Amino acid sequence: MKIITTPDPRLRQKSQKVRPGSEELKTTIAQMVKASLEWEKDHPHEISAAMAAPQLGINQRIIIIRDNLEDKNDTSFTALINPEVIKTEGKIITDYEGCLSVPLVYGLVPRPAKARIKAFLEDGAEVRIKATDSLARTLLHEIDHLDGTLFIDHIKDRTDAFFRLDDSGDLEPLDYDKHIKSNKDLFPDEA
Ligand SMILES: [Zn+2]
Repeated sequence: MKIITTPDPRLRQKSQKVRPGSEELKTTIAQMVKASLEWEKDHPHEISAAMAAPQLGINQRIIIIRDNLEDKNDTSFTALINPEVIKTEGKIITDYEGCLSVPLVYGLVPRPAKARIKAFLEDGAEVRIKATDSLARTLLHEIDHLDGTLFIDHIKDRTDAFFRLDDSGDLEPLDYDKHIKSNKDLFPDEA
């Protein structure tokens, strides 16, 4: 299955809740893991940290999170079903985010430092997660996908907020006027 990218309208839909424990859910999760790892093969400087089902055009409330972000050889993910943000707290921290569905562009995105999440595991067990820092950021980014929100929507001052990876995998600033303002894929309503 192919990862869909902006401006595909399916990325902007609200996804439906799903019932944990079904065979169909198992298949969908397996497809998500496979697509994430295939993407990673084509992106040597990046790690596929997480994905939401709508990124495969499946409008269901399912996300997967990589279990170990330090080691690309560890390809295990945990799936969270119907995840909900119960509460966010802490300082607002601005840090880099990228998205498999927003090709080539990274952005500086403000998010709360802590998030409490409620979700179900694949088998139907309920879990509560107290996430901080990068895990909180990742979970909030993925849960946003389930409501049709992308990280670029959170960037209010766009002038110095966008970057791309150079050939050696370092982030370099993108000139707003040249690369972002006129990019109809990112901001179709404004061009
Ligand atoms: Zn994303």
